[in-house]
Amino acid sequence: MSPDHHTTASGHWLDVVVATPAHRALGDTLTYRHTDELAAGTLVRVPLGSRTVPGVVWACTDCPPTGLDPDKARWVAAVLGGCPPLNPNWRTLVGFAARYYQRSLGEVALAALPPQLRDLQPEQWLRKMRKLAKSAAAGTPHTTTPDTAIWPTPSTEQQAGLNALVQAHQPVLLFGATGSGKTEVYLQAARQLLEADPMAQVLVMVPEINLTPQLQQRFVDRFGQAQVALMHSGLTPAQRLEHWLAAHTGRARIVLGTRTAVLGSMPRLRLIVVDEEHDPSYKSQEGARYSARDLAIYRAQLETRHGAGCRVVLGSATPSLETWHAAQQGRYLQLDMPTRMGGAEPPALRLLDMARQPKGTVLPPAVVSAMTERAARGEQSLVLLNRRGYAPVLACHACGWKSHCPACSAYRVFHKMDRSLRCHHCGLAEPVPRACPDCGNLDISPVGKGTEQLEEQVATLLGGHQRPDGQPLRVARMDADTTRAQGSLETQLARVHGGEVDVLVGTQMVAKGHDFRRITLVVALNADAALFASDYRATERLFALLMQAGGRAGRDASLSQKPELWVPTWNPTHPLFGALKKHDYALFAAQQLQERQVAQMPPFTHQALLRAEARTQASAQAFLNAAREAASTLEGAEHLVLYPPVPLAIQRVAHVERAHMLLESTSRPALQHVLAQWHTALAACRQLPAAKGLIRWAIDVDPLSI
Ligand code: ADP
Ligand code: ZN
Ligand code: ZN
Repeated sequence: MSPDHHTTASGHWLDVVVATPAHRALGDTLTYRHTDELAAGTLVRVPLGSRTVPGVVWACTDCPPTGLDPDKARWVAAVLGGCPPLNPNWRTLVGFAARYYQRSLGEVALAALPPQLRDLQPEQWLRKMRKLAKSAAAGTPHTTTPDTAIWPTPSTEQQAGLNALVQAHQPVLLFGATGSGKTEVYLQAARQLLEADPMAQVLVMVPEINLTPQLQQRFVDRFGQAQVALMHSGLTPAQRLEHWLAAHTGRARIVLGTRTAVLGSMPRLRLIVVDEEHDPSYKSQEGARYSARDLAIYRAQLETRHGAGCRVVLGSATPSLETWHAAQQGRYLQLDMPTRMGGAEPPALRLLDMARQPKGTVLPPAVVSAMTERAARGEQSLVLLNRRGYAPVLACHACGWKSHCPACSAYRVFHKMDRSLRCHHCGLAEPVPRACPDCGNLDISPVGKGTEQLEEQVATLLGGHQRPDGQPLRVARMDADTTRAQGSLETQLARVHGGEVDVLVGTQMVAKGHDFRRITLVVALNADAALFASDYRATERLFALLMQAGGRAGRDASLSQKPELWVPTWNPTHPLFGALKKHDYALFAAQQLQERQVAQMPPFTHQALLRAEARTQASAQAFLNAAREAASTLEGAEHLVLYPPVPLAIQRVAHVERAHMLLESTSRPALQHVLAQWHTALAACRQLPAAKGLIRWAIDVDPLSI
């Protein structure tokens, strides 16, 4: 643009959203000028300080905003052309997410856009757009399904679900056992909606895409590669841009992704699927701590109010108590699919009373013989233990030294493979000392057990037993340590599927999503830890994990042995096990909801946390105390309970002290109203001398763990 524009009062004024690394108090948009009118939702580059940053036009007017000196406003540096503007529903969604989760609009908006937007210069961007548009035009046309795709006939149960789902006017809870054919219902519902509307799009979210390559394959087989866009963190920046654009331009009819996909731009969204909706990974734990499940519900409602209508389906065998409660109240429509496909029976639960086992039992003898029997028949067993490494602590019995992490209030874990002590919180790793660092005693030993040790012990216990082919039994382990290298997860899964492994030891990572056809026995160790955990959601998670782990077993009904889930426990009479034995999630949920109601816990109340991290615990607490004081004076605070600050269970991580304070209310609007007013006060609290060591703070709305 020519320099004389900078001095005239002509042109247009734009409200632009840029990535401000911040909380909402900083103001949501910045004002810029441009010669031409730009549609809201247009991507631009604007000067900010000495840099140029990407932004999104939020509004455009032809007179300067009141109170702004026209000559002070800077000019838009470039318009990122070549793609349509972000539509009003997307902007409303982002605006809602920012407001509800108490973050700046810019942070939420820009985090939802492909990261290459930051790095590409306008000319590079335009070149890229042209190239992608050209390759898309040359690609497959808008066919709904490839001719070769094979679609099974839905069962009666599936058909009933499908019919109800495509007509539903409220969110649907698809309550179906593992292997009951829920995914098939998603696929067929997607097909129906896509065929009915040639522009329609479908969003399918899963907790962890890398763990479920089979799922991705199913969608690609049915709809063709060109129609399926992916949105997850495992893609390269270039791929992310490409897939984002495919969704944004409507070229991709299906978007398959993790929680971040809920903020993807899909102009003609007609169906959102949230598979395994109870999974905690749907709640972001950094930045804007949004729940993708809750935003999915909001987004579907938005598309219905201001669009052609959008269904939302939450699928699970063990729904979150929030979702279950909503279905019980009739706010969500519940569809049941209790029958497993192929007639496979749900696994029988067997509780092993630890009080009756020989003292010092590693694995009850019955487990060992059950595993060898199965291996002799060519079947597999899975042993779950949710603790990786060899031992959680290394200790000196002479002086009491323990493998504390110097940076955290936690022990470092002993890893035998490379003889290291590793902190699972801050990552600090050191070689195991040869002698006790405090007293020189040479006899320092592991305390407790992780998967690495379990693998070793299982191998020892199974030594001498044979496979049908006369070979020794094979034990393998899968956890974050064995699957770190690129491609190793796939290799290990292939070995299990190929029958090379007889007993698989692993963390909960293996309990999720995989379709292991030959596993007929699952043993879940250390389940008791969750029964008495301080986290009130621990039992809910344990129940889901055990149901899901059991679901790994007996997927192949042709196998002679009935699938079993074995749980060693000191508490065999715990009501959770009573419900688990009957595969009765409804019974379990009723017990839990009753307890939650009595204790006034979510979903009967609404919570938010103010989290603080500081150099000292005292400054974290000083900040939180001042914040609590300030909150108590805000309008509507009388409807809230403001709890005193407390240190986190693991109080210090990487030399940073952590604390939080809880706000609670039976009224969600009241809680939101107070949170919205709080920001100015929080910025002031930060300046207090007593809070000098404060590093950062954040609000967590509807927190998962407190
Ligand atoms: P879920 O998602 O509930 O775990 P899936 O949709 O993966 O269940 O179905 C479990 C198994 O049953 C899969 O192998 C799937 O291919 C098969 N299946 C599902 N629906 C049908 C059907 N209508 N006819 C034949 N096989 C089916
Ligand atoms: Zn010692
Ligand atoms: Zn540490």
